Amino acid sequence: MIGRALRRAVIRRAAERCEYCGLAQEGQEAAFHIDHIVPLNDNGETTLSNLALACVSCSLRKGAATHESDPLTGNATPLFHPRKDLWSDHFRWNDVEVVALTAKGRATIERLKLNRPLIIALRQEEKLRGRHPPLRIL
Ligand SMILES: [Zn+2]
Repeated sequence: MIGRALRRAVIRRAAERCEYCGLAQEGQEAAFHIDHIVPLNDNGETTLSNLALACVSCSLRKGAATHESDPLTGNATPLFHPRKDLWSDHFRWNDVEVVALTAKGRATIERLKLNRPLIIALRQEEKLRGRHPPLRIL
């Protein structure tokens, strides 16, 4: 259970954007989730340092995972950690597509399907509205 004050702090820190894919909560019907970066089942804590704002799609695709195989090497690779990693160290934008810069970037794109057709279309709409690419954080 995440208290209201903690929830608000996570949302504010993320500037109301998914901390994995950068999607803005503004304009999305479904409320974004508060993601435990290290899952509760792995003794992840409900503290600011282990929480991230995630859109519904990223949240559900990540689930309780902390690793994914790097599609290039097949090696189990830690997923992007929004509190410990800098987004721009692992990813960059190519217009509406997320491009991986590292193994961690590749594994995270694979696990969260960050370039699936639906989100590409959504980013194209967001671009027209001036909400893509994100100006802050990512
Ligand atoms: Zn997302």
